[in-house]
Amino acid sequence: MKGNEKQTPRVAVVTGGARGIGAGIALRLAQDGHDIAVLDLDAMACAETVRAIEKIGRRAVAVAANVADEAAVKFAISHIVDALGPPTIAINNAGILRDRTIGKMSINDWDSVINVNLRGTFLVSRETQSHMRSAGWGRIVNLSSTAALGNLGESNYAAAKAGVQGLTKTLAIELGRYGITANAVAPGFIETAMTAEVAERVGISFDEMKQQAIRATAVGRVGQPDDIANAVSFFADERSGFVTGQILYVAGAPRG
Ligand code: NAP
Repeated sequence: MKGNEKQTPRVAVVTGGARGIGAGIALRLAQDGHDIAVLDLDAMACAETVRAIEKIGRRAVAVAANVADEAAVKFAISHIVDALGPPTIAINNAGILRDRTIGKMSINDWDSVINVNLRGTFLVSRETQSHMRSAGWGRIVNLSSTAALGNLGESNYAAAKAGVQGLTKTLAIELGRYGITANAVAPGFIETAMTAEVAERVGISFDEMKQQAIRATAVGRVGQPDDIANAVSFFADERSGFVTGQILYVAGAPRG
């Protein structure tokens, strides 16, 4: 496959695809020619993303599942196989924050963040890789974060996102021989409901928080879901088969 030749259409699963970065990724992969399973906690919340994908002529299905729940993930992937076909692109985007400094961090804050961000990435990767192996082709793209480098009040999230990086590199080593690549995108500040909720929690306006974030960039703006979707699209591309085990910081400044 060369230049602008069309890619082979695939089935992609995008976790946390109802809104924010996940919705941006789902739409971009549909524009790249793929059919999309939009997986999120609430199937109704996926309706807008599904409609946007169908509008550009691709098939889409909303799938309700908690990525941290082993049985739910197994069921969801088998449902996707029935509805769209075997998923050979997996985008592990679902994530949550429960920010507290270490003295105030409860076991529940720790476990819930590790379970969604890290365990969820493991479970969805494990359930989809068998379909990729059968196809002799696959792409796994995981969402890490600049927080993996350390971030105030985010020991749980930083550990999970650093864990995602180790998991990604190991998946690359284990699965490369089957035509499967595994890479991670590590965003900086992206304008979504997640960052708006952080502003609310720390008691500053979202505009003020965005101004602070802009000062930490070289490019003088905050990121948008499309910035991340573009990086994910590159890793998922058929022509990116020699790129694996990489962590790409997409943060408007040098990171990592
Ligand atoms: P978001 O706006 O909060 O969207 C996350 C989506 O994931 C929501 O639809 C959420 O559903 C869903 N979700 C949460 N827990 C889930 C679970 N257990 N199973 C399935 N779906 C679940 O977040 P975002 O800003 O788009 O972030 C997307 C990813 O990028 C996350 O992994 C995040 O850690 C990472 N990231 C974001 C930023 C940023 O600045 N925004 C920076 C670095 C990394 P509900 O709405 O029902 O909770």
